[in-house]
Amino acid sequence: MWLDLRDIIEMPGKSKGFETVLDPEALLAPSITRFTAPLRAVGRVDNTAGLLNLRAEMPVSMVYVCDRCGVEFPVSRLFEAQVPLAADAEDGDDGELYPLDGDGVDVDDVISASFLLDTDMKCLCRPDCLGLCPRCGKNLNEGPCGCETERDPRFAVLEQLLDKNL
Ligand SMILES: [Zn+2]
Ligand SMILES: [Zn+2]
Repeated sequence: MWLDLRDIIEMPGKSKGFETVLDPEALLAPSITRFTAPLRAVGRVDNTAGLLNLRAEMPVSMVYVCDRCGVEFPVSRLFEAQVPLAADAEDGDDGELYPLDGDGVDVDDVISASFLLDTDMKCLCRPDCLGLCPRCGKNLNEGPCGCETERDPRFAVLEQLLDKNL
């Protein structure tokens, strides 16, 4: 949603509120499989002594996929964005300020860019996730798979060779 900032851009002390619903496709980081509730963000742009700053809050309910074992698990969090905006195009060149689009800004774009920066590209279902057995593919969080006791004879030969080299 494009937010017109003409009435606050030159007016220090002024603010403009907004409410928008984001397109989930724009927020899909590799670690997220889907969102389970609409992405409704409420926020405002403040002109503080001539500097524009966007703040927004967005409750996010989503399903993450564990990078190690592939199990999906739900996560809910309140995402808070705080993004300084460039009042003119030249200020936007250094990358620290989000550039305006004409006399306004696309608040959906600002919030999704901030969300993606803030979201881990990899995540685990729990810090000590054991992952999958590389041989049989069983999820080792659910218990041992038995590969350790029933060794494939071909692997036993290989291990003997490796032992000799140690
Ligand atoms: Zn896991
Ligand atoms: Zn196994």
